[in-house]
Amino acid sequence: MFLLLSRSFLMEKIKTVIFGGSFDPIHLGHISLASEVVGSGLADEVWFVVSPQNPHKEACRLSDENIRLQMVQLAIEGNEKFKASDFEFNLPRPSYTISTLSVLEKEFPDREFILLVGADNWKKFDKWYRHEEILARYEIIVYPRDNSDVPELPDGVIWLQAKLHDVSSTQIRELVVNGGCISGLVPPAVEKFINQNNLYRC
Ligand code: ATP
Repeated sequence: MFLLLSRSFLMEKIKTVIFGGSFDPIHLGHISLASEVVGSGLADEVWFVVSPQNPHKEACRLSDENIRLQMVQLAIEGNEKFKASDFEFNLPRPSYTISTLSVLEKEFPDREFILLVGADNWKKFDKWYRHEEILARYEIIVYPRDNSDVPELPDGVIWLQAKLHDVSSTQIRELVVNGGCISGLVPPAVEKFINQNNLYRC
């Protein structure tokens, strides 16, 4: 019994990076960043946590959450290091990061959760709800979002010098509206899904 307990205590937790976003749609910039996170050895897995539709915001501005989730699933199919998560769909809203992390931690005690934050959001991190608690309880990986200098980072916050792919979901939605080509910007399965479902046409 003691041996079993001490063995499970000693077992390394699965380092799981939480990559939150609207993913409307997911694109190769997101995928490439997640690949760099895993490739760097900083994490074992990346979970793409799709943010839910905000019922208080204009619904037509954001595609349905299940459609966005489906596109993430298509984009990462076959990659066992990546997971599409609808975890926040069932949490009280607004879904604050600290609440999501706390619930995840309880539900998956075999995992250590790490937050992935772009340098643009890191600049505003001190405005986040209960940011000090996030810093105290979780590791954070910050990655570049523009060409600005590497920010000063406190203990527990790691800089990942990831290569940036100059693509955004806004650019993809605009290209589709204007009849442009999005291949090479999203995974082929996502491009097919967008076309088959007439997404972003107006
Ligand atoms: P939108 O253009 O609609 O604002 P987006 O392309 O920024 O969307 P989000 O779903 O908002 O995509 O992104 C989720 C996270 O991914 C955000 O933190 C965002 O900063 C980051 N991100 C977006 N584009 C890239 C990219 N090309 N490379 C790395 N990270 C990105």
